[in-house]
Amino acid sequence: MKIAFFDTKPYDRIAFEQYAAMYGVTIKYFETKLNEDTADLANGFDGVCVFVNDTVNAAVIDKLYAMGIRVLALRCAGFNHVDMKHAYGKLHVVRVPAYSPYAVAEHTMALLLTSVRRIHKAYLRSRDFNFSLTGLTGFDLHGKTVGVVGTGKIGRVFIDICRGFGMRVLAYDKYPTPDLDNGDTVRYVDMDTLLLESDIISLHCPLTEETYHLLDAAAFEKCKTGVVLLNTSRGALVDAEGLLAAIKSRKVGAACLDVYEEEGDVFFEDNSGHIMEDDTLARLISMPNVLVTSHQAFLTQEALSNIAETTVVNIVEVLSGSPCANELCYRNGDIQDCGKNRHCF
Ligand code: NAD
Repeated sequence: MKIAFFDTKPYDRIAFEQYAAMYGVTIKYFETKLNEDTADLANGFDGVCVFVNDTVNAAVIDKLYAMGIRVLALRCAGFNHVDMKHAYGKLHVVRVPAYSPYAVAEHTMALLLTSVRRIHKAYLRSRDFNFSLTGLTGFDLHGKTVGVVGTGKIGRVFIDICRGFGMRVLAYDKYPTPDLDNGDTVRYVDMDTLLLESDIISLHCPLTEETYHLLDAAAFEKCKTGVVLLNTSRGALVDAEGLLAAIKSRKVGAACLDVYEEEGDVFFEDNSGHIMEDDTLARLISMPNVLVTSHQAFLTQEALSNIAETTVVNIVEVLSGSPCANELCYRNGDIQDCGKNRHCF
C-alpha cells in the first residue's frame, strides 16, 4: 500500500514511520500542501493523507478519483476543509475522531493562564534581567465564570480542568449531554446567556455553516466588558475583523488564538523573513493582550502517536476492504461517523 502524504512536517514522520513499518504501508512524504496544482503528485499511489490546511475541494477530488485513488485519510478530526458531498461515492474519507482531547484542552488552559498571569511578558522581562512587576497584575481564575461552547470530547476535558480551578461553568451545545449539568457549578444555558455572563469564553465546537462567525461584532457586543476569548477550535468560528474591533473598543480584554480564519496561508511555516501580508493577523499579533499559537494545541507526543496509529490502521482497513469505523458518512445532507462497521458506499 503506497500513500502520498501531503503537508509533511518533521514531527509527523517520526510517528508515522513507526506505524507504517508495523502495518506494511509505504509512505512518500511531500512537504507541499494538497491542492489543484499539486494533486498530480498522488498519481500512482493507493491513497492520500492530508492535514487541516490542505485543499480537498471538488476539483481535487475529481483529480484523485481519476487517478484511481479511493482513500482520503485525514490525520485530524475536523473535516471542514473537505467537500464531503462531492467525495461521497468516490473517496472513502477516514479521519481520527479522537487522538488526545487532553492535548487540546490543556493547551487551552496554558493559553488562558499565560494570558491572565502575563507569563509571556514576565518571561521576556526576566531574560533581560528586568524584574519589575509593573503591568503584570493578573486576576484569579477561582470564582470566575467560563462559557464553554461545545461540550464534546475536548470541551468536557476543558470543563473538568476549569472545575479544578474552582470556576463556574456555563455550557452551550447544540446537542447537550444532560449528565454534564449538575445544576450548580456546571449548567447548560442558551448562547445569549453564555455571552452575557461569562468572564471567559472558550470555543470547542466544530466549524459548520451554522457556526461560521459564531462570534462576530454583534456577539461581542453582548459580552461582558473585558471578556477573555479562547479559540483552540477553528479560526472561522470567530470573525477576526469583529474581534479586532472589539479589542480596540476594550470590550474584549484578551484573546488567545490557536487558530485563525486565514491560517492556511501562514500557520505551520516560518514566515519570519517575510512581510506579513495579512493586516488583520499582523494587527492582532501586535496587541499586548493577544496570544497566538500556530494551531499547536494538538502537538503532544501522545497525540502524534495516536494520530499516526489510527490513520495507518484506517488506511489499511479501507484498502484491504475491511469495515472502518472511522469512515465519515455523507448521507441526506448530513455528515457523521460511519461507526457501523461497514463502508458508507
Ligand atoms: P466533538 O465532536 O467531540 O465535540 C464537538 C461538540 O460540538 C459536540 O458536543 C457537538 O454537539 C457540538 N456542536 C456541534 N454543532 C454545534 C453548534 N452549532 N453549536 C454548539 N455546539 C455544537 O469534537 P472535539 O474532539 O471535542 O473537537 C472540538 C473541535 O476542536 C473540533 O471540531 C476541531 O475543530 C477542534 N480541534 C482543534 C485542534 C487544535 O489543534 N487546535 C485539535 C483537535 C480538534
